[in-house]
Amino acid sequence: MKNVIWSFMVKRKVFTAKDIVKDLEATKYKYLGKSFLRNKVKDFIKQQLYKATITAVSEGIFALKDYAKDWEKYIEKRKCAVCDKDFVPFEEKQLFCSKECKKEYYKLYHQTKRHRGKTSRKFQNWQKWEEEKLIEAFKPDYRFNRQKASQLSKELGRSEEAIKERLKIIRKRLKGAGL
Ligand SMILES: [Zn+2]
Repeated sequence: MKNVIWSFMVKRKVFTAKDIVKDLEATKYKYLGKSFLRNKVKDFIKQQLYKATITAVSEGIFALKDYAKDWEKYIEKRKCAVCDKDFVPFEEKQLFCSKECKKEYYKLYHQTKRHRGKTSRKFQNWQKWEEEKLIEAFKPDYRFNRQKASQLSKELGRSEEAIKERLKIIRKRLKGAGL
């Protein structure tokens, strides 16, 4: 398995342990289970750090030795929903570059909630992100589901009813698009 792990590292050049576990899960090793794979990857990373074939370039992010200097070029970046800055996501679903922007986002939401008519850029951004969250959560049929809705309702500061209504609109639109 070490050869396989190494080949994924070489392919990615810059990676997190999570990335490599994800790669492994797309192979026959999937059946060994996530926590087993995670431990294997972590051990391997430690060994390679010790051998100096890879370098830790940021918290939880590693790069092959030759790519350590320009590591940021090799990692997939995302635009922050609040400040528009490019950032390196540590989590798969991370939407904001920082804790400050996350706070700002929720503050903004509670402000704009009272001024729905206004179509500021920030509010449009906010709507877009919210919608993406809904689409992601209710895939693949976009049918309302109380359990998912109650989770999201806390996360987005929205009532379950509001989520249900929003979902109806999304479903209609996606259906119209043949999705
Ligand atoms: Zn930001």
